[in-house]
Amino acid sequence: MINLLNLDKEQMKGLFSDRQYRGTQVFTWVFAKAVSDIRDMTNLSKATREELSKTYVISYPEPVRTQVSSDGTEKLAYRLHDGQIIESVLMPEKNHWSLCISSQVGCAMGCAFCCTATLGFKRNLEVSEIVSQALHPLRTYPDRQIRNIVFMGMGEPLLNYDSVIKSIRILTDKDGPQFSKRRITVSTCGIIPKLKTLWKDSEAALAVSLNAPSAEIRERLMPVTRKYPLEELIEALKAYQLPNRRRITIEYVLVKGINDRVRDARELIRVLHGLKVKVNLIPFNPWPGCALDAPDHEAVLAFEEQLRNSPFAVMLRKEKGRDILAACGQLAGGIVHDGHEAH
Ligand code: SAH
Repeated sequence: MINLLNLDKEQMKGLFSDRQYRGTQVFTWVFAKAVSDIRDMTNLSKATREELSKTYVISYPEPVRTQVSSDGTEKLAYRLHDGQIIESVLMPEKNHWSLCISSQVGCAMGCAFCCTATLGFKRNLEVSEIVSQALHPLRTYPDRQIRNIVFMGMGEPLLNYDSVIKSIRILTDKDGPQFSKRRITVSTCGIIPKLKTLWKDSEAALAVSLNAPSAEIRERLMPVTRKYPLEELIEALKAYQLPNRRRITIEYVLVKGINDRVRDARELIRVLHGLKVKVNLIPFNPWPGCALDAPDHEAVLAFEEQLRNSPFAVMLRKEKGRDILAACGQLAGGIVHDGHEAH
């Protein structure tokens, strides 16, 4: 059986060669109305629905656990058809919600500060497994306005490029869930070849996890730097074609004693010279078994202060959901820490 959640609008139209509007209708049922049964597609004839049901299903990952943080952040875990567990994080903002989703099971990048890295790489997510991380909360909490989607959960989105691009196309389709392209952010550790096509293919916002002001420090924290050197990454960002007013977000995880000194901030400003970016500082979120430490509060403030005196806008990301291991870099499907596989 084929899962309709894996098909975009063009593919659905292709199912009805003579009457393509039927395909758009099916697309709307699946992605805008988020029905879970082909029988519910009531503007299709009974015969059409029966015919479709012979080959197609609508199959969601199974929600297995929701944890709620004292700050309102929710971590949602799903079991996939092969038993793997992935996690998403729903974060309350003032008037809306932001959703952080995963693109892979585990991750191959091996960043020293990231808990997902300890899982190693298991597999890429299918389109259905990506889009359902947005559709499930839409269905479950219809009164919550989910406005932003960030690919900052488990995995490296640019190493699951085609499925991530197709998912963005579906999530932003006017006949589907209608998320705004500007409010979808792809976050990457810097897979340079994919940066060449990302804007053209997605028009999504881009965040780059830089995390270091020099190649030496970056290699220590992010092994991917050996394959895609810092200098070349900066060049790729210079070449990245964004419309005038938009900015790339530079993410910078502050780790005590490694990249959190004032001179690191100064060097960072030099490295970023000439780029259209804003900087997002993220104090390291510790997780059990990690040898790195969170920066002192004073160090964070001093680092931020340096950047305030630069051409770049700077934001300090508030850690959310730390108490339920839902903050940046803490997602590991409950496999490493809380031990209890969901039931
Ligand atoms: N692979 C993608 C997306 C996942 S990481 C990427 O590298 O961008 C999402 C963000 O969380 C990255 O900016 C990363 O630097 C940050 N991060 C990872 N582990 C963290 C931790 N323990 N504390 C704080 N931020 C972390």
